Amino acid sequence: MSEVSVLVAGASIAGPALAHWLRRRGAQVTVVERAPGLRPGGQAVDARGVAKEVIRRMGLDAAVRAACTDTAGAYTVDVDGNVLETYRADDHGGDGFIAEIEILRGDLSQVLYDDTRAGVEYVFGDRIAELSQDADGVDVTFVSGVRRRFDLVVGADGLHSSLRAMVFGPRERFVRHLGLVLAFYSVPNEFGLDRWFIEYQDKESARSAGLRPIRDATQAMAMFAFPAADFDVDHRDVEEQKRLLRERMGGLGWSTPRILAHLDDTPDFYLDQVAQVVMDRWSNGRVGLIGDAAFCSSPMSGAGTGLALVGAYLLAGELAAAGWDPEAGFAGYEARMRSFVEANQEIGRLHAHSRAVPQPDPEPDAGPSPEPDMDALMALVDRALNGIELPDYTGVPDFGASESSARA
Ligand SMILES: Cc1cc2nc3c(=O)[nH]c(=O)nc-3n(C[C@H](O)[C@H](O)[C@H](O)COP(=O)(O)OP(=O)(O)OC[C@H]3O[C@@H](n4cnc5c(N)ncnc54)[C@H](O)[C@@H]3O)c2cc1C
Repeated sequence: MSEVSVLVAGASIAGPALAHWLRRRGAQVTVVERAPGLRPGGQAVDARGVAKEVIRRMGLDAAVRAACTDTAGAYTVDVDGNVLETYRADDHGGDGFIAEIEILRGDLSQVLYDDTRAGVEYVFGDRIAELSQDADGVDVTFVSGVRRRFDLVVGADGLHSSLRAMVFGPRERFVRHLGLVLAFYSVPNEFGLDRWFIEYQDKESARSAGLRPIRDATQAMAMFAFPAADFDVDHRDVEEQKRLLRERMGGLGWSTPRILAHLDDTPDFYLDQVAQVVMDRWSNGRVGLIGDAAFCSSPMSGAGTGLALVGAYLLAGELAAAGWDPEAGFAGYEARMRSFVEANQEIGRLHAHSRAVPQPDPEPDAGPSPEPDMDALMALVDRALNGIELPDYTGVPDFGASESSARA
C-alpha cells in the first residue's frame, strides 16, 4: 500500500504531537497552521499521569524536561501578600496542583515542532477554506488557493476550531462556557519572584491574579481570572480583549495595578473563555478531530495538554492498527478516549464551580451543606490521571522516534 496522506490543521500541541505519531506509523503528514509561525506564549501547561508515559514513548522526556519551568510550587496570598496556603511541586508524586512536568505552552509546542519538522511538511500562514470528501479521499482547497487531495484530514485547531464548524456544525452546539475568563501574558520580573507561583484570590468577586517566574526568573507570566457569563469578545481581537481585562480587573488589590501597567508592551497576550467542547462523535467519514477542537476540558482541568498528547498516540495507533480504515480507526480512538476525557472534563467543571461567585444559601435553615465525598473525588482524580490504557500496538509499524528526539 502506498503511504497514506494525512492533513492536520493546527500546529500548537495536538497537531505536532499527532504528526509525530502518524509519521512513526508510516503516514505522510502535512500540518497547516493559520498563524505565520509557531505561536509563542501561554501559561505553563502540565503533563501528569499517563501523559508522561506518552512523552517518554515519543523519546522526548529529556527534551521536555530540559524546557520545563523550574517551579518549586505555589502559594496563595492575601491582599497584603501574606502566605495563606502552600502546594509543593513534588506533592502527590509530582502529579499535584503544580505538576513535576510543567512547561510553557509555547515551549512545548517548539519541542514538538523541532522533533517533527524534518519528516513532516509544515505550511504556515494558510488554512482550509473548503473541503469535500468521497469514499476514497478528501479534496481540500486552502485559502491561498492551493488545492490538494488527502486520504484523511484531522482538525487540531483548538477550542474555536473552524474545521469542526465546517464538518460537524456551529460552535454553539458543542462549546460550553463555564462562566470564567482567563488571561495570560508575560511581564518583567520586577516582583522579586524566585521559583514560586503566587496567586491572590478575591473570593467575593471570584477574581484572581497570579504571577509565575519564567525564563530563569528574568520575567514573569501574569495570570488573571474573572467571572463572565456574558463573554462575547472576538477571540482574535486582542485590543478589545485588553480593554475588557483592564475594565474587569479594576479595583482588584495586591500587585494587580503593577501587572496591568505592562499590558500594552507585552509580546504575548492570550485571553479566552473557560469552556469545554462536548461532542457525541469526533469523526465524520475521513475527517476527525483531536485536542481542544474535539474535547477541550478547559484550563481549569489542567489536562488539555495531556489529553492532546494521549489522543495523538491513540489516534495514530488506532488508525494504523486498522490498516488506515477511517471508520474502524476513528471508532477505536473514540472508544479508548471517551471515559478518560469525561473524567478530565468533570474535574474542569468542579474546579470552575469552586471558583464561582459564592451564592447565598437558598435554604438557610437546612443546616450545613453535606461534606464533599472525598473517596469519590479521589477516584475521579485517579481516573483523570491514569484511567486509560496505552496499547503497545505490537505488530503495527513503528519507524521509531525521529533523529532529533533521539539526540535530545
Ligand atoms: C497562543 C496560545 C496560548 C495558549 N495559552 C494557554 C494557557 O495559557 N493556558 C492553557 O491552559 N491553555 C492555553 N492554550 C490552549 C492549550 O494550548 C490547549 O488547551 C492544549 O494544549 C491543547 O492544544 P491544541 O493543540 O488542541 O489546541 P490549541 O493550543 O488551542 O492550538 C490550536 C492551533 O490551531 C491553530 N488554528 C486555529 N484555527 C486554525 C485553522 N483554521 N487552520 C489552521 N490552524 C488553525 C491555532 O493558531 C493554534 O496554533 C493556548 C493556546 C494557544 C494557541
